[in-house]
Amino acid sequence: MNTHLEKSETQSPSTWKTENICGWGRYPKLRALSTHSETMDAFKASFQDLIHERSHGLVYAHGRSYGDSCLPAQGGRVLHSRQLNRILNFDEESGWVHCETGVSIYELIQKFLPLGFFPPVVPGTQFVTVGGALCNDIHGKNHHHDGTFADHVRKVEILTASGELIYCDADHNSELFWATVGGLGLTGLILSMELKLTPVAGPGIKMESIKVKNLDHFFELSSESSHFTHTVSWIDCVAKGSAMGRGIFMRGRHCNESPKPRALGRIAQAISPILNVPFSMPNLMLNPLSIKAFNALYYGKHPKADLHQTVSYEPFFFPLDFVKNWNRIYGRRGFLQYQMVVPKTEDNHAIRSILNEITQSGMGSFLAVIKEFGERQHQGLSFPAPGVTLALDFPNYGQELLDLFNRLDQIVIKAGGRVYLGKDARLSKEHFQAMYPEWADWKKVKDQWDPDGIFRSSIGERLGLC
Ligand SMILES: Cc1cc2nc3c(=O)[nH]c(=O)nc-3n(C[C@H](O)[C@H](O)[C@H](O)COP(=O)(O)OP(=O)(O)OC[C@H]3O[C@@H](n4cnc5c(N)ncnc54)[C@H](O)[C@@H]3O)c2cc1C
Repeated sequence: MNTHLEKSETQSPSTWKTENICGWGRYPKLRALSTHSETMDAFKASFQDLIHERSHGLVYAHGRSYGDSCLPAQGGRVLHSRQLNRILNFDEESGWVHCETGVSIYELIQKFLPLGFFPPVVPGTQFVTVGGALCNDIHGKNHHHDGTFADHVRKVEILTASGELIYCDADHNSELFWATVGGLGLTGLILSMELKLTPVAGPGIKMESIKVKNLDHFFELSSESSHFTHTVSWIDCVAKGSAMGRGIFMRGRHCNESPKPRALGRIAQAISPILNVPFSMPNLMLNPLSIKAFNALYYGKHPKADLHQTVSYEPFFFPLDFVKNWNRIYGRRGFLQYQMVVPKTEDNHAIRSILNEITQSGMGSFLAVIKEFGERQHQGLSFPAPGVTLALDFPNYGQELLDLFNRLDQIVIKAGGRVYLGKDARLSKEHFQAMYPEWADWKKVKDQWDPDGIFRSSIGERLGLC
């Protein structure tokens, strides 16, 4: 059912203020006029301001995108959505929840885990909204089992640039739906959606962690773990030679046993409310030496024998959430993440070349994870594709780092892979078009629904999408 926005729905006045704004990597930063809406009517009214003033803008949810995909284009405005967090309906029989766009994964877990339900796909932090999750078509540790966020969504309610309210999903207005999935917020204003929660027996995750000797060992473990719903491996990306790819492999599934946190886990949970990085750390804190030391220490502390335990979902899915504002440890310069996926091959040459390129550059990554995606892939700008994904955080070393990323792009393009736009802050238009050959089809849908370019972002401008 499609309807038009009524004038009476848009009367509440919006307050616009200038603010500094950035994504989770704190690079780049910009100043923009922004407004916080507490009700859906106010959200729609702010959108009407854009139209009346012939301006343009973008929704900013929890800002957990790393780079500039949640930032408006030059001179654009920001519509904050996180207060639009009402649950509108829940069907206990089927697990379908109807909610506003600003409802977060955290809020869904708090409300529905006690009733025996969990979000179907979660990223490495619970502080993301359902709107943000759809616009980056997020994946979790269960991609090989459950696909992406979009695979569990229906009846997405979108306010398009022309003021039309459209409901879309894989079966209705499907062109608009698939352009919105991973579409970086550029197709319209998402107001609400329905999401199918997964029934679970409780908060426990039965997990195993295994010390990985090298890349070959990682691929062996990954192949033999496909019956686990969730898998991921931390990787020491500083290790060279025969140790290249060493790390800690984690696999697990929801279970009905109560979690038994080990002493360290109990302490972390108890002090988590006060763990906070209150201000930007000095840039020198994270340098190639401290990063190398951290990687060696983290690898060394895991016992040689495999660990089997039942843990709470929080340390399993969201270990970084225990420290608030952990992104400040990178200092004022911020940090960049490079996440790519390449098809799996016999010798996994591309992954080895990427790790080689990184060790040779001397710019280590503090946090790096590797995972094999499953077969599920969506059209348009959605990132996940069959193959191996590697995600690496680097302090913002400036031009030297950008040069390294450009060299990594060449390897990824040659291997037929792509980088994750929701984590990007620097990809060139030329490299983007080589990685996402379907971009032109996506753009046709964007132009059809937003011919005047009301929805514009910093990344969208850089990549020629708006
Ligand atoms: C610690 C950490 C771990 C992470 N782990 C993963 C992971 O494992 N897998 C993964 O896929 N991602 C991961 N991410 C990235 C994160 O899941 C995505 O960037 C997510 O989209 C952020 O959601 P958000 O609510 O913060 O949205 P924002 O970052 O604020 O916005 C994301 C996009 O959605 C658009 N948008 C949001 N709401 C609306 C709306 N109502 N209407 C129109 N457009 C809208 C915005 O304009 C923007 O383009 C991680 C991020 C962090 C910080």
